[in-house]
Amino acid sequence: MQQTVPKTVQQGVILRLAVPVPLRRLFDYLPPEGLNPAELKPGQRLWVPFAGRKLVAVLVKVVLESPQAQLKPAQELIDSKALFDSGARKLLNWIADYYQAPVGEVYAAALPAALRKGKPADHWAEQWLQLTTEGKGLPESALARAPKQQALLQQLLRAGQQSRTYLKTQGHTPAVIRALQERQLVEWVSGPTVPPPMPAAEATPPPQLNSEQQQVLAAVDCSCFSATLLEGTTGSGKTEVYLRLMERVLAEGRQALLLVPEIGLTPQTLRRIAARFPEHSIAALHSGLAEGERAQSWLAASEGQADIVIGTRSAIMTPLPRLGVVLVDEEHDASFKQQDGVRYSARDLAVVLARNSDVPVLLGSATPSLETLHNALNGRYQHLRMRQRAGDARPPQIHVVPTLREPLEEGFSPQVLRHIGETLARGEQVLVFINRRGFAPALNCDDCGWIADCPHCSSKLTMHRRQRQLRCHHCDYRRPLVDTCPQCHSRSISALGGGTERSEELLARRFADYPVIRVDRDTTTSKQALDRLLAPARDGEPCLLLGTQMLAKGHHLPRVTLVVIQDADGGLFSADFRAPERTGQLLEQVAGRAGRGSLSGRVLVQSRFPEHPLLQMLLEKGYGTFARQLLRDRAVAQLPPTHAMALVRAECEEPAWAEEFLHNARLFMQSLVPPSPQLQYLGPVPALLERKSGRYRFYVQVTAQNRAQLQPLLARVCAWAESNKNRRLRWAVDMDAQELS
Ligand code: ADP
Ligand code: ZN
Ligand code: ZN
Repeated sequence: MQQTVPKTVQQGVILRLAVPVPLRRLFDYLPPEGLNPAELKPGQRLWVPFAGRKLVAVLVKVVLESPQAQLKPAQELIDSKALFDSGARKLLNWIADYYQAPVGEVYAAALPAALRKGKPADHWAEQWLQLTTEGKGLPESALARAPKQQALLQQLLRAGQQSRTYLKTQGHTPAVIRALQERQLVEWVSGPTVPPPMPAAEATPPPQLNSEQQQVLAAVDCSCFSATLLEGTTGSGKTEVYLRLMERVLAEGRQALLLVPEIGLTPQTLRRIAARFPEHSIAALHSGLAEGERAQSWLAASEGQADIVIGTRSAIMTPLPRLGVVLVDEEHDASFKQQDGVRYSARDLAVVLARNSDVPVLLGSATPSLETLHNALNGRYQHLRMRQRAGDARPPQIHVVPTLREPLEEGFSPQVLRHIGETLARGEQVLVFINRRGFAPALNCDDCGWIADCPHCSSKLTMHRRQRQLRCHHCDYRRPLVDTCPQCHSRSISALGGGTERSEELLARRFADYPVIRVDRDTTTSKQALDRLLAPARDGEPCLLLGTQMLAKGHHLPRVTLVVIQDADGGLFSADFRAPERTGQLLEQVAGRAGRGSLSGRVLVQSRFPEHPLLQMLLEKGYGTFARQLLRDRAVAQLPPTHAMALVRAECEEPAWAEEFLHNARLFMQSLVPPSPQLQYLGPVPALLERKSGRYRFYVQVTAQNRAQLQPLLARVCAWAESNKNRRLRWAVDMDAQELS
């Protein structure tokens, strides 16, 4: 972290603070005037003046001398007790060091938004919207002529009350609320902010553990640190293992932390955990919560009231005073890596946190990341496997359907359509996986070759037919759909390629007797919406589910017996060296949705290149063998995880500036450590998506045989770049980068 100049300029009680500014150092202040220094504890927040602004800083330590001259006093102490205990501070300082991140930004990222803004760390009042007596008397079908009002009415009929902040996140506008108020159907009341209620729990008796589960549980000692990869087939009962480990530490009065991918925290998961531990309090931490709710959950976790903490990525930075075990579900998921700001990997931090706290960490996946697999194969992590599906489910059969010379109907081969029809006719369910939302990924003029591009990104616009729009999936630029070519005025405009919307139209027409449920970001704005959308599928009726990777995870749908993967080829030919790994994970996860109940499953994979060796290996030998082969390839190519890799990134509206900056960064680094077989430089090269939201993006890649060589070099290049004065250029260091885009 900061390099202090040895010369002491000022003496007395001095506060060393993490201030949320993009500088990699702490700042010294005098205590607020009139404050008794005995009230100061590291981990408290203070208001401080900084460059003409007032910021929320965190006290990292109290020192007695400072090298800085003319210290200013902090304005005000916010907290009477520390928000971050010493364990949490140790982790945050580690993050700042390892990821070369500004320490003040790390502390800020660890706080929920409300506390980051300086709100008091206690229960504050919230406005709640509730139904009047008249409103309560209405049926859910009322107000059919005003669909927005009806949606709000239905939500209130189900939930009773909803907070103002929550309603905002759900897209209910003030105008809609006012309309219901004018009809005297709803009213505002003021009440405390509370974490959102857990979904109703139906207590279920735990199953008898099978022998593989027993072996795993016997191999994890909860009294000290250990890191374990649990490589278990989908449906092998990993979640049951997590529940048993939780049970063990809860019995000792300790807390359990479960990290899940962004789309893995479904109401279904929460229900399952709540049903197992009805007497324990659970705090959920994810982006779907309103600000006040999130702060409440965070405080419940950090003050030790919550026994079980379930959260997405940023939950790893929550202080947990009684931590007993760290569990990471679907550890391979890309959402565990933060892609901007403080670019940490929550999965890697899970191991650091467990080691710091001397507790076990379990990384679970059916398709482990190559990073974790590497650590397991070289003995740094314990490696446990579960090969059998739990209960009576059997593994699915997988077949490739070649599509190169087939007469396809909107991207589906006749054979696949026939299988879908037969499966539905048997009263079973079908899941169709399509990697792209929207109607078509490009719109093109047949006469002059014009293609609808995003004006701000180096990408094409996706056609969304129902909304009659063209949208950029990178920057969210939208424009109305056109019927004539803007270049040559021809009317022969056609949509190229397929997306979920286009497939939905075909399937709904072909299988008109069955419900077709489309699940993607356009149909599902919240986790609750997804849960509702999937309700018919859970009821077990024959239906056709169709969607993007949102469908690949976390949903237990026992009556799905046929899974169709419309196109397996995308990831096999990408410029990103991680693409085959991701494709393999996705295919295996999607295939794992088949035959989860007592019915056996079948998977049909459409491909234009059925002979592709990677695809062959994946389908014949499974992800485990496939991943081990990829690991050998990576070692030969000197890529992660056998080598450490960091990117120095820069982006700017003026491409030449970004390139020049990176060119100089590389020269600077090379002057410190010349290129060698142990440490190599590449670039500046354009990012895979070269232009995004109007800015050109480049990076320099540095790979090294080990991290110890990389760290000091990155620290120096950050110090060099901080003195760069070009305000229109953004730069970052991305340690263990996951995306080259
Ligand atoms: P995973 O997390 O590995 O995908 P789950 O823990 O969700 O697997 O288990 C898959 C299904 O098998 C769930 O319905 C679960 O209730 C059931 N299950 C898990 N363990 C057992 C067991 N020992 N006996 C019977 N059923 C089990
Ligand atoms: Zn044209
Ligand atoms: Zn764009």
